[in-house]
Amino acid sequence: RNTIVAIVGRPNVGKSTLFNRLSQKSKAIVIDVPGATRDRNYADCTWHGRRYTLIDTGGFEPASTETILIQMREQTHLAIEEADIIIFLMDGRDGLTPADIEIVQLLREGGKKVFYAVNKVDGPRHEGLLPEFYRLGVSRIHDISAQHGLGIDELMEDLSACL
Ligand code: GDP
Ligand code: MG
Repeated sequence: RNTIVAIVGRPNVGKSTLFNRLSQKSKAIVIDVPGATRDRNYADCTWHGRRYTLIDTGGFEPASTETILIQMREQTHLAIEEADIIIFLMDGRDGLTPADIEIVQLLREGGKKVFYAVNKVDGPRHEGLLPEFYRLGVSRIHDISAQHGLGIDELMEDLSACL
């Protein structure tokens, strides 16, 4: 089977924007998995000829901080079970949040390969948003703009070594 890559992150960090960008670029077929996952989208994608299945997690907007955390824990456990590789997406405009820190802890315990990315770094004047995320103690964090297509090649280049 294809390697499965899941995008995990808080609501509104840009998961679906990244999913759409990666799946459009590779002329993906969005797979309809009946009954299985009401709030997850799957797409068969390729990156320079390597096939993988991409999952966009978290389809609805939770109402409170508490429900965000509950949903994110669930999402993260599912992704750890189901995926081979996880893209953990954060939001440069929001900075590093307590929810991000908690999810990173779960991901570490999960033992799957994780690639870290900070989204909404739309240009050079936003590059100052990145350093605080290194408090996570992660050696490589990609700054990307899913909306403007920046940093995506570098992220996927890094990730494709695992495909
Ligand atoms: P999701 O809830 O994680 O799936 O987030 P979405 O993909 O729905 O995006 C949430 C909001 O962030 C939308 O208004 C997007 O247009 C916006 N967004 C996504 N990527 C970027 C980006 O790279 N830069 C900026 N400035 N906004 C973005
Ligand atoms: Mg979404």
